[in-house]
Amino acid sequence: MKFPFFRRLSSDIAIDLGTANTLIYVRNRGILINEPSIVARSASSGKVIAVGSEAKEMLGKTHPDIITERPLKDGVIANFEMTDGMIQGFIRKINISRFARPRMVVCVPTGITEVEKRAVKDSAERANAREVYLIEEPVAAAIGINIDISKPIGSMIVDIGGGTTEIAVIALNGVVTKESIRVAGDKMDDAIVQYFRREHNLLIGERTAENIKMSVGSAFPGDDRMINVKGRNLVAGIPRTIEINSSEIRECLKETVDVIVDGVKRTLENTPPELASDILDRGIILTGGGGQLKSLDQRIMNETELPVHVAEEPLLSVVRGTAKALDNLEKYADVLS
Ligand code: ADP
Ligand code: MG
Repeated sequence: MKFPFFRRLSSDIAIDLGTANTLIYVRNRGILINEPSIVARSASSGKVIAVGSEAKEMLGKTHPDIITERPLKDGVIANFEMTDGMIQGFIRKINISRFARPRMVVCVPTGITEVEKRAVKDSAERANAREVYLIEEPVAAAIGINIDISKPIGSMIVDIGGGTTEIAVIALNGVVTKESIRVAGDKMDDAIVQYFRREHNLLIGERTAENIKMSVGSAFPGDDRMINVKGRNLVAGIPRTIEINSSEIRECLKETVDVIVDGVKRTLENTPPELASDILDRGIILTGGGGQLKSLDQRIMNETELPVHVAEEPLLSVVRGTAKALDNLEKYADVLS
């Protein structure tokens, strides 16, 4: 006999441990966590005070004793302890039974080392996991986009996150060619901050830069307009508003976009011809938050002469794929490690 209580005990968990955002799916309950990958800790004791949205709110506004950090910022685990604290904090938030021994599938950036992978597994085990499997990010994204990865047909996925861009050609349950580059959304934000400092003597914060990128940033000419940007003038030291054309933002994102486009081209060059012809038919799929950058699809299309599509709800592709792997562990055994 099955009681709802027991079903709850067996709530298995899928985690998309992203450099910018962490999403957690719990079987039978859906996506319960969708929060920034941020930890706030005490500088003196090192203790984790808050994780996720709560920690983000503390960013830059708090007590001198509180330090906020993004433990996966550059696609590597900068700090094991903080990554562990973050995983434990998020799992506590979903409030599963203390007696539960869930199975977990965790999606991690492919650039992380074996030692880092082990650390993530250990962390999941400390959170009471009975079994822990890891899945590669582009594979999870492909599954989440409903691509049948078991077929002998090549699909190219370009997942642009905060810290890393993962480019992969997948076929027959495996990654055929891949490239993981540490240039993605964060670098775009940095480029905007640097640009205003250099060209306009204006100091703007990372969040402002990210908002500018999301609202008017683009990768291909067209649809330009004037925008107001607020910041602190570096010479006078006082707040100022300046008006600029959005084409300037495109110009300052160009370097980062070029690196991503070059990575796509390189991966295509390294792809066996039969699979390359599949990509010619089916196109390249952009996903991850950065995949939403305006006209990036057009820019890649222009340079590769291949069709390019942006996934539906690109911020959810990876967690959906990770969840599907969790719900069908046997079917996806080949892509789990
Ligand atoms: P990760 O998987 O590394 O956690 P995400 O897939 O969650 O990353 O994507 C986060 C990145 O996507 C951030 O850098 C964010 O600024 C960027 N992003 C989100 N929406 C947009 C948008 N509309 N245009 C450009 N970049 C975006
Ligand atoms: Mg991601």
